[in-house]
Amino acid sequence: MLSPSRSHGSKQMNRELVFVLEPDSGRVTVEISRSPSSAIEELQGDLGIRVNVNCAKPADPSKRGASRAPENTRFFPDDNSMVWLYRIYHDSVTDGPGRRSVIQVSGCSIRCQGCYVPETHQRENGSRVSIASIVDEILKDRERHDGVTILGGEPFDQPGPLAELIYRLKRHGLHLTVYTGYTMETLIERKQPAIDYTLTHADLLIDGPFVTSLNRNAGEYRGSRNQRFICLTKPGVGRHLGREKNCI
Ligand code: SF4
Repeated sequence: MLSPSRSHGSKQMNRELVFVLEPDSGRVTVEISRSPSSAIEELQGDLGIRVNVNCAKPADPSKRGASRAPENTRFFPDDNSMVWLYRIYHDSVTDGPGRRSVIQVSGCSIRCQGCYVPETHQRENGSRVSIASIVDEILKDRERHDGVTILGGEPFDQPGPLAELIYRLKRHGLHLTVYTGYTMETLIERKQPAIDYTLTHADLLIDGPFVTSLNRNAGEYRGSRNQRFICLTKPGVGRHLGREKNCI
């Protein structure tokens, strides 16, 4: 915990910001007490999407559970209820650790030479599908699976719907792997709240474009050697996921 503006005197103390870092999850909680709105906006720009968790007043037992949004409530307010989807398939053992359900989105602006799935490049080769129906389908089969992988196409070409998917699936305690042809550094540089949300709530990111000259001995789950396993949450989350030991 660290307080960058801690000082004596009640007036100053009211303006202090306290940062609580959670290294395991990558979350930062900022305790704000009467700070000017400009400081809060600036923080949001630096830290990504803001979720208000309210002030530390005693809990009202009659409202217990009220902070959990109902099943059909969207986390992101824009129209992110639909995603361009190519297909869903189950029982994959090649798209991330364990046995997984896979959500394959359509549309990719990266167009790596030699891509294995050129049929997913055009959005219109898939269809716009409601995220609620995708989550329903994933949940039907969840007992047989160790987690869910989202790949494409390029998932981050639809950052809002991707974050919405992550939000809804994570609420069911599913282990989430996301593939991207971008590097994580490039995604962070975009400073988009929806992208930041995915990077702080998914469990495993496999990043980087497919490079044909690097495809030999790429290792499990990867198409070429430049691609990286990046653990966004602590290794071993979920069942049978010991292979995440390769994470950086
Ligand atoms: S990012 Fe993925 S889907 Fe897009 S071209 Fe590269 S390998 Fe193919």
